[in-house]
Amino acid sequence: FFVKSDQISDQQILIAGEDFKHITKVLRLAKDDLIEICDGQGTDYQVALESPGSQSISGVIKKIWASQGETADLQVTLFQGLPKGTKMEVIIQKSVELGVREIVPFFSMRSISQIKDKKDKKIERWQRIAYEAAKQSKRGIVPAVKELHTLKAILNKVSDFDLLLLAYEDENKQTLKKVLMQFEENNESRKRLKIGVIIGPEGGFDPQEVLHCREAGAVSVSLGKRILRTETAGMVVLSQLNFWKEG
Ligand code: SAM
Repeated sequence: FFVKSDQISDQQILIAGEDFKHITKVLRLAKDDLIEICDGQGTDYQVALESPGSQSISGVIKKIWASQGETADLQVTLFQGLPKGTKMEVIIQKSVELGVREIVPFFSMRSISQIKDKKDKKIERWQRIAYEAAKQSKRGIVPAVKELHTLKAILNKVSDFDLLLLAYEDENKQTLKKVLMQFEENNESRKRLKIGVIIGPEGGFDPQEVLHCREAGAVSVSLGKRILRTETAGMVVLSQLNFWKEG
């Protein structure tokens, strides 16, 4: 379970709300049962539950350790062209499992799907999915799902990435592997690497957008000869980045 820092005191952790119901009603845990708690900042706790109250349950901290689910040296932001239907939900769930730090959905010229209101309930739902996936995969943080932006707006804010990758279906020279090997050759190994990955929607990218991405510093990469579904492409990049950095 994830808790906020104000729920943690010296030796105790207090859990209320949905997590309280989950612990007592769904999992039916009781006094002295052990659970794992994460503060969302990279620290995990083993906690022994006390007797539940009517609205909350507290636990005594038994052990503390650094979260295993995080690698400090690879921080990936997935910029995902908004797909149709519920595909974004799958993309969020799987990319959180694969270690993404942040997900930024965007509209582009060939986006089919539209969300009219930026504060649409969908974004709340997506954040909830990220939370559940982080819990399930024992991440040390809950990756943020940002509000929808246009591709143009995104490209104005990408200057702080060490490497910005554009997965481009019509790229026929550079593979992701080649670009990563070149990056390693030309850059000293750094403790923390911030990488952005841009994936197009079902309709792919307009050549004008590819030009804008390159002007913003993106390197276009091929993911192989086969055209992947938009929901597959980001997962392939994340898997390859994990292989590259974590083995
Ligand atoms: N029409 C299919 C769909 O409905 O999902 C395929 C869409 S593909 C054009 C969507 C995005 O996935 C592309 O814009 C690109 O970012 C990425 N992609 C798919 N296959 C790729 C490949 N072989 N190389 C690089 N990027 C690829």
